[in-house]
Amino acid sequence: MVSIPLLKDNHNHFYTYSGLNKALDLFNTNEKKQALDLLLKDKNEITIAKGWFDAYYNFTDSDFNNNQAVIIINNSLHKYYFNSKAANIICQSFPAWVENNNNQLWVEKNLQQIISFISGFFKFDKNSLEHALKDSEKKGIYINSDMYISDSELIDFTIESGHQERIDLWISPRLFPELNQNQKDKVKGVKIFTDGALGACTATISGYKINSNPILTYSDSQILQTIEELLELNTGLAIHCIGDKASEQVIKSLEELKQSIGSQDIRIEHSQFITKDQAIRAKKLGIILSMQPNFNWDSVIYSDRLSQKHCEINNPFRMLIDDAGFIPGKDLIFGSDGMPSGIDGCIQQSIFPPVPGQKLSLDEFIAGYCIDKTKPGYIQLEIDELKKKVVSTVILA
Ligand SMILES: [Zn+2]
Repeated sequence: MVSIPLLKDNHNHFYTYSGLNKALDLFNTNEKKQALDLLLKDKNEITIAKGWFDAYYNFTDSDFNNNQAVIIINNSLHKYYFNSKAANIICQSFPAWVENNNNQLWVEKNLQQIISFISGFFKFDKNSLEHALKDSEKKGIYINSDMYISDSELIDFTIESGHQERIDLWISPRLFPELNQNQKDKVKGVKIFTDGALGACTATISGYKINSNPILTYSDSQILQTIEELLELNTGLAIHCIGDKASEQVIKSLEELKQSIGSQDIRIEHSQFITKDQAIRAKKLGIILSMQPNFNWDSVIYSDRLSQKHCEINNPFRMLIDDAGFIPGKDLIFGSDGMPSGIDGCIQQSIFPPVPGQKLSLDEFIAGYCIDKTKPGYIQLEIDELKKKVVSTVILA
């Protein structure tokens, strides 16, 4: 039995998921009938569900009766289904989404707006914030992040709540110029997306074995210009890159803009398929890789769409640490992206991953994922090398 400190989840969507906590969860339904049983029973004015894996099933209007409005969120957060009744409701305030929901490029570019729109159906107050913090504590997380803030009221709410040091806020670049200095000081930085997700087959890798639609959100010249402008804001910069093509675009741009890089944190989020050459160049530039050990499991769950080779090079932690020299806790940090959040989702994947190149030692895990004090509580781990199983228990002070 070993004890480790509680976690700092460096990439999550705290407010969105706390709001969406009230949504129905399809995460454990791998048959459409199970999902429909849940959905059709819902009595809310608008049925909102999350955790949908389109690898298992899809929806059509005829699945629902005419007076039930339904919005369903893919587990990747990069794909959405809504029926006609829900479309009527969405149209009142966000018609562009209804027009463009089948246009994946549009969806990728407007993810932040879509997510805030949906979580806006669930209201937030001091009580629900404290409840949400308690909830995440029970899962072993002490410090949370929200990578998707697009509303300055939520920044003020966080500051006034007295819990700011427990929620890292990353915001949409559009919002940053509208903030006052105090708000600017309180956010970690801005976040942009340069490609899609594996769940929607829109991440920019070449290794899909089924129909795919890899999407680079920006052209080469657009990303160069965008990063140049964002560096001038003098705040942190978090760049979502899953595929190696997105990583290449971003690392190349940063190489060209090297002279403009100041002391701000520049993070690549996910970097699941970063190559060794890219990793070495990123290390030289001082880029921080913000990665999710729970996505090791993508090598299993997305083996329906990924080539064998891509299953094996997903989340190449050994290459990053042993060959490219990344140091957990310094320029290699860990989080969950909320899929799922908490110690259970990541410790098993880190210590006994599906692919050998994904393995982290317990010390590396602690350095990259844990807070540096044990005061608010700790996590007990029973690591069974024979059964290849980790059992965790969260002990709160
Ligand atoms: Zn995310």
